[in-house]
Amino acid sequence: MKAKLARKISANKISKAVSTSAKNQIKKSPHKYIFVIGGVMSGVGKGIATSSIGTVLSAKGLRINLVKVDPYLNVDAGTMNPTEHGEVFVLNNGLETDQDMGNYERFLNRDASDYDYMTSGMVYKDVIEKERALHYGGKCVEAIPHIRDEIVHRFEHAAKQNKSDVSIVEIGGTIGDYQNVMFIEAARMLKMKRPADVVFIMVSYLPTPGKLGEMKSRPTQNAARQLASYGVNTDFIIARAETPLDLRRKEKIAISCNIPTEHVISAPDIESIYDVPVNFEKDRLAENLMKTLNLPERKTGPDFTEWKKMAKGIKNFEDHKLNIAIVGKYFNTGDFVLTDAYISVLEAIKFSGYANKVKPVIHTVNSRDFEVKNPDYSSLEQYDGIIVPGGFGESGIEGKLNVIRYAREKGIPYFGLCYGMQLMTIEYARNVVGLKGAQTAEIDPKAPHLIIDIMPDQKKKIAEGNYGGSMRLGLYPAKLLKDSIAQEAYSVFEGKSLEKATTSIKERHRHRYEVNPKYIKKLQDAGLVFSGTSPDGVLMEIAELPRGEAGKGDNKHPFFLGTQFHPEFLARPLMPHPLFTEFIKVAKQINKIKKAENSK
Ligand code: GLN
Repeated sequence: MKAKLARKISANKISKAVSTSAKNQIKKSPHKYIFVIGGVMSGVGKGIATSSIGTVLSAKGLRINLVKVDPYLNVDAGTMNPTEHGEVFVLNNGLETDQDMGNYERFLNRDASDYDYMTSGMVYKDVIEKERALHYGGKCVEAIPHIRDEIVHRFEHAAKQNKSDVSIVEIGGTIGDYQNVMFIEAARMLKMKRPADVVFIMVSYLPTPGKLGEMKSRPTQNAARQLASYGVNTDFIIARAETPLDLRRKEKIAISCNIPTEHVISAPDIESIYDVPVNFEKDRLAENLMKTLNLPERKTGPDFTEWKKMAKGIKNFEDHKLNIAIVGKYFNTGDFVLTDAYISVLEAIKFSGYANKVKPVIHTVNSRDFEVKNPDYSSLEQYDGIIVPGGFGESGIEGKLNVIRYAREKGIPYFGLCYGMQLMTIEYARNVVGLKGAQTAEIDPKAPHLIIDIMPDQKKKIAEGNYGGSMRLGLYPAKLLKDSIAQEAYSVFEGKSLEKATTSIKERHRHRYEVNPKYIKKLQDAGLVFSGTSPDGVLMEIAELPRGEAGKGDNKHPFFLGTQFHPEFLARPLMPHPLFTEFIKVAKQINKIKKAENSK
C-alpha cells in the first residue's frame, strides 16, 4: 500500500517533468480558447465532456485551465440548496462554486483558481459597482458592450492568472436559453478578435426513439443552426448517445453542420466517467483540436498511461465489494439528487476503494429512519463502513446521532465529514461524557451544553443577515498530533516514515460552527482525541478514538474519526485522499474478519 502510493506520487512527478520538458521544446503559441456549449438538451454530461477535453489536452503536455460559466444571478453557488443544484464545491481561496469545478480538479489533477468560475451575478455585480464608482465616465452602461466586455476580460484574466496554454470554457445551460446569451456573445467576440485561437465545441445528444431503434441526428443539426444564428459556428461536435456513432451518422452530421467528419466525436453512454477521456483519445480529439488551433503536434505523456490504468482499475474488484453507508437527509427526493449533493464524497470513496483494491458499493441511509421509536439498528450491520457527510440544520439530526452511537458501540468504521464530525463529538459528549442535552448552537442555542458553538465573528455576520460567502471557507492549515491515526494516514500517503511523519496539513473548509473550547478538556478526559487542530491550538480540526477493539469499555475503536474540514474536496483519482484511504483500509480489514467468522 505504502509503496504503491509513493510510486503514484513519483509517477506524478515524472509526468510533470515530462510535461515541462515537452513544453520547453515548443515555441510559445498564443493563448488558445475552447468554448464548450450544450445543444439539444441539458444533463447529457457537458461538465464531464469539458473535464475530459482538459484531461486529453493536458496529457499532451499543455497547461490547461478549465472555466465554468454559470448563467444564474447568484453571486456564487454558496446560497443554493444542494438538493436542487447539487454539491457546493469549495476552492482553495474559499469561493463556493458549482460541482462541475470538482470534476475539473479531479480530471486535471490540479487546483482551480477563483478566476476559473463565474456567474452572471458576479459579472453584473462588478459592472454595477464600477458604474457606482464612475468607472464608465458618464456613459450609459449597457449589457452590450459592458457586460459582454467584462466577461471577455474575465476569460483573458483567468488565462493570464493560470499561466495556461489553453482555456477550456464550459458555458452553462443549453443553446436557446435566454440566460447564457451574453456569454456566447462574449465568446463570439473573442473569436472575432483572434480567429485562429478560438474553437467551439457543441456537446449534443442523439436520441434513439424506442420504436424506431434508429439514432436521430436532426435535433443536433437544428441546434447547430440555432448556434449559427448567434454568429457562432461550431468547429467540433461531441455526440452523446446511448451507443457509439457509426461512420454514416458521423458523415451525415459533418455535412449538415459544416465540419470535417473527424470533428464529430462519438460519446456513447459508459459505465464510468473516467473512461470518457480514454474514448476521446481513441477518436483523436486532442490531436484534432491541436491541429485546428495550430498547436504543434506532441506525444501523449505518461500521465495518461496512469489515467488509463486508473480508469480501468476503478471498475475492477467486483469480487471484493465493500458496503459503505452514507447517512443523509437528502435521500427522500430520489437517487438522482443524492449523487449530486454528495458527489465529491462518492468519488473520494471510489478512488480510495481503487487504492485498496476493493469495490465500494454505496448505500444511502435516510437518517430519519433512525428517529422513530424503535429504529431497526440491525439494518446497519450489513455495512463495512458508515459516513455522515456535511450538512446544515436540524432535520434528521437525532437519527444521525443514533447511527453514530451504534457505529461507535459496535465497532463499525465511522468517518464524519464536517457536520459528521460535530455530531460525533456531540454523541460522545452525550453518551460517554454523560452531558445530557449536549447540542450544537446551530439547532438550539439555549441547550444546556453547547458542545458545538458559533465563533464570535460568525455570530456578528448572522446578526447582520450576511449569509453569502461568509462561512469559514477554503484552505486552512492544521497541525497533527504525534502518533495519531490521522498523522499516520497522511504520512503513509506522503511516503514518509513515522519518524519523519507529516506534522501539518492544509484542507478545505466550509462551516460556521466549531467544537466549543470550554468542553475540550472534558471530552479528552473521557478518551476523545483531537488529533488535528488549528496551528494556534484553538480550533479542533480532527477528532478520533484510539485504535483498538470496540465495546471493551476502554473507548477504543477500529476507526472512529471525523474532520471539521471536507477532505473530499481534495480527493483526486490519481491522488486518493489519505483519510478516505485509511477508512476504506480498515473497513476492508473488518469485512475480512466478518467473512472469516461467518464461514466458520
Ligand atoms: N452546519 C455545520 C456548520 O456550519 C456544518 C457545515 C458542513 O457540514 N459543511 O458548522
